[in-house]
Amino acid sequence: MMKTSLKSTRVRISRLDRMLITAVLLLSSIFPVELFSSTPPAPMGHDGEYSGKQGQVLVVKVKGEEQATEVKGTFLSRTIPFFREFRPGEPAGYIGLLGIDMQDEPGTYELSVEVKQGEQAKQLSFNVQVAKEKFTVEHLKLPKDKVDLDEKSTARWKTEQQLVREALAENSRLKLWRSNFVEPVTGKRTGIFGSVRIMNGQARNPHNGEDIGAPMGTDVAATNDGIVRITVDHIFSGKGVFVDHGLGFYTMYFHLSEILVKDGDLVTAGQIIGKVGATGRATGPHLHWGVKLNGARVNPYALLDLPFKNGVAP
Ligand SMILES: [Zn+2]
Repeated sequence: MMKTSLKSTRVRISRLDRMLITAVLLLSSIFPVELFSSTPPAPMGHDGEYSGKQGQVLVVKVKGEEQATEVKGTFLSRTIPFFREFRPGEPAGYIGLLGIDMQDEPGTYELSVEVKQGEQAKQLSFNVQVAKEKFTVEHLKLPKDKVDLDEKSTARWKTEQQLVREALAENSRLKLWRSNFVEPVTGKRTGIFGSVRIMNGQARNPHNGEDIGAPMGTDVAATNDGIVRITVDHIFSGKGVFVDHGLGFYTMYFHLSEILVKDGDLVTAGQIIGKVGATGRATGPHLHWGVKLNGARVNPYALLDLPFKNGVAP
């Protein structure tokens, strides 16, 4: 559903993208990239192996490919765009954020990475071991009409899902996030990511985000820089904001009482984008914070653990 291919015609290059492209071009003319190094790619992990649990984010590095023009991975049919890493005094490398979906089956899978340099392309292969996460079971009691949807509500829900799918099919082709990730609200985590949900006695979809309980009207901050791709007022999510951080990376903020941004707005890490509320299907005021990384639903708190300081990976 994410269009990340270079050839994709559905991807819109926004004004910010253009500004960033100009900035990158300017920077690369000031700091010319080093000559092609003969160093073989040195993947992190052990012997090209990575492992992580369901819902985690893995940082995959491809080094010694300074002259690469595009680096792109494929994992379980999902595309992982890699971005260039600038570190003063070191050969450039490429980094990809690999999200393990909360429902990826445990097992070992291949992450194949294509490194393009002009017309030439080569393929690297990594093994990724997906381990089972122990998700909790939550029992929730909600008004019957919020769980068992009537025909009209089901139709509304389907239309809304489609609208979101279409909006998220467009994403910034440039990495927009930079510094450390910010927790949007500090509060009590009331709904745990990945938990199996039993609503009024019926098993429902697992919880695809984290719920943070906070008083009505508490400020909600954007976790990082990005573009507001869509703001919604939907049957389940209530008032919600989808922030596009580029390269198929989205964060979502639901059940807001108030939205303080508009579609297409540029936001920076820590900027207040809304207020905590209980709109949509909610039992009380809280923020539902969700993350989608190239189609994978990952634990939002995994972002805070990412080893990026001032935008630079170790
Ligand atoms: Zn939630």
